[in-house]
Amino acid sequence: MEVVRAEVLGFCGGVKRAIILAEQEFRKNANRPKARLETIGDLIHNKREIARLEGLGLHSVDRVGDVSEGSTVLIRAHGAEKSDYEALRSRKVEILEGICPLVRDIRNKIIEYSEQGYFILLTGDAEHSEVRGLISFAGEGKVIESPAEAHEYDIPEEKEKVVLLSQSTWKRETFLQVAEIMRTKRADILVEDTVCQATLDRQEALRRLIEQVDAVVVIGGRHSANTQELFLIARESGLPVWYCADEEDVPPALGQYERIGLSAGASSPDWLIDKIEEKILMQADA
Ligand code: SF4
Repeated sequence: MEVVRAEVLGFCGGVKRAIILAEQEFRKNANRPKARLETIGDLIHNKREIARLEGLGLHSVDRVGDVSEGSTVLIRAHGAEKSDYEALRSRKVEILEGICPLVRDIRNKIIEYSEQGYFILLTGDAEHSEVRGLISFAGEGKVIESPAEAHEYDIPEEKEKVVLLSQSTWKRETFLQVAEIMRTKRADILVEDTVCQATLDRQEALRRLIEQVDAVVVIGGRHSANTQELFLIARESGLPVWYCADEEDVPPALGQYERIGLSAGASSPDWLIDKIEEKILMQADA
């Protein structure tokens, strides 16, 4: 059996940057036992990497109201809601800005368009933290989750200027479909393709990989939007595909395939990809 890795897989620049910031903070705090680094929600969608960071001293709280006074709060690569920033500023905490520069660019566009009187349409998962954060900076806006919703949604007539943007990790095809549908409703709608290239690179590398293998393993956290997209792309190919959050998820059935393709979402650390590959190869020997 052979395991073939996608040419591009695993951590993206934004996630890597947030983790580096956390690690720098741990080093800075090595001799400050009272220093505390917190995040609102998990820093990334990967339980195993979170467990490693918690071992180094990271604390995750559920809500901004749970943040400890005097702590440093690391904003995640996805960013945060406007009301969270406001609440943090009103408390005695230091904000360490870990937002991915690309998500910050989308946020800045939303703020600028809103200031110019645009109604903001955003494609993405309305429950995803990036989308909740981005739309909270829109003066007026609406999240469109699918082409079906785009068909059903009527842009309020009184909105003279409308712009459509996307969650960074959304599937570009879906974004373009929504854009096409929206153009039939409002010909002068402005469309800004804000799908992140890192996401597209992983998707394109997976498509090339699919041509060369008999089965696919997609690695990533269960709540990772970009990993779910990778899984769907692999499944649409008709090849057998498995979603593995860690090495425990590697199925014995993989032992029957000659060439297994390996892809991983943007929140999967190299060390975990190595462990999963090792486990797959062990299935061949079992
Ligand atoms: S997927 Fe792209 S936009 Fe999202 S955190 Fe990674 S680099 Fe940033």
